[in-house]
Amino acid sequence: MAENLERLKQRIPLLDYLQRHNWKPCRAGTRQEFVGLCPLHQETRPSFYVNAAKNLFYCHGCGRGGDLIRFVQLFLDLTFHQTVALLQQELTPAPVSRLLEETTAFYQFQLHRHPEAIRCLEQRGLHDPTLIEEMGIGYAPGGNLRRHLAALGYSFDVLLDSGLVGSQGRDAFCRRVIFPCRQRGQIVNLYGRSIGAAFPHRLLPRSKGGLFAWEFVSSFSTVILVEGLFDLAVLWQAGFRNTTCAIGTQLTPAQLSQLAEQPPRSVYIAFDQDYNQAGQKGSHQLALHLQGVGIRARIVQLPHGHDPNSYFVAGATAADFTDCLERAQQL
Ligand SMILES: [Zn+2]
Repeated sequence: MAENLERLKQRIPLLDYLQRHNWKPCRAGTRQEFVGLCPLHQETRPSFYVNAAKNLFYCHGCGRGGDLIRFVQLFLDLTFHQTVALLQQELTPAPVSRLLEETTAFYQFQLHRHPEAIRCLEQRGLHDPTLIEEMGIGYAPGGNLRRHLAALGYSFDVLLDSGLVGSQGRDAFCRRVIFPCRQRGQIVNLYGRSIGAAFPHRLLPRSKGGLFAWEFVSSFSTVILVEGLFDLAVLWQAGFRNTTCAIGTQLTPAQLSQLAEQPPRSVYIAFDQDYNQAGQKGSHQLALHLQGVGIRARIVQLPHGHDPNSYFVAGATAADFTDCLERAQQL
């Protein structure tokens, strides 16, 4: 194990990894020392040091330091094991993403064979077949994926590693509408929304990736940020193609840096107006953070108890939502 970790760190040098994630280094003193703004906390004067020879970082601002694995753990908000799995996957990206492609295609096929899944999409106001196809939305009935993938030649170990199948051999996704999450064209995770009594949200045990469809949405100077993929789907359907989604209200540092990468971008935060206030608190914190890095942030108030999805299901039109955007307050 320790040997594998050493090899992993050698094959993905820390400095390379940082630069691939838009870190801008300056040389500091010796030939192998670099300094720049800390990707893990907000700052205006560089205090994040990297020693390329030792493959280590240390930030004098937030006091955090360590190796590549530690950095990725903090940057993407993952556990140690998830981080190692993600980095290993980065070294061998093709087979896993192919497996997730095959899985997505299988689930898309299942969607049209299960009226309960179509009914669920209709109840959530999603009816445009072209959009459903474009987003690659599918349905996992449970109990048939493993057999299908085994027939395609995938070993049990590969399926287990991917998280698609549990150690008992059961499909991880059961009675869930599935949305593939893509990054630079490759599927990096699958999100499953339960249509039954099970916990509503489920992702595979790997990074949720960056903001949803960011390659496409990042070209807009005004962006709408929502919590859930059903919110995003109804907004896209209504013509708001500048909508992206963080899958939850807690953004990872990687997602935050995507939003912040191009001031002066405007961000409309349209989280749930739920009774436990999680959405409101989340929006407020996020708006403060974005303003701190020079991004104009506004909080969209929907009628009480609504999220964008339920608002459209209740009969709202694109014009109604545009009204909400126009009324949105800057902090
Ligand atoms: Zn720091």
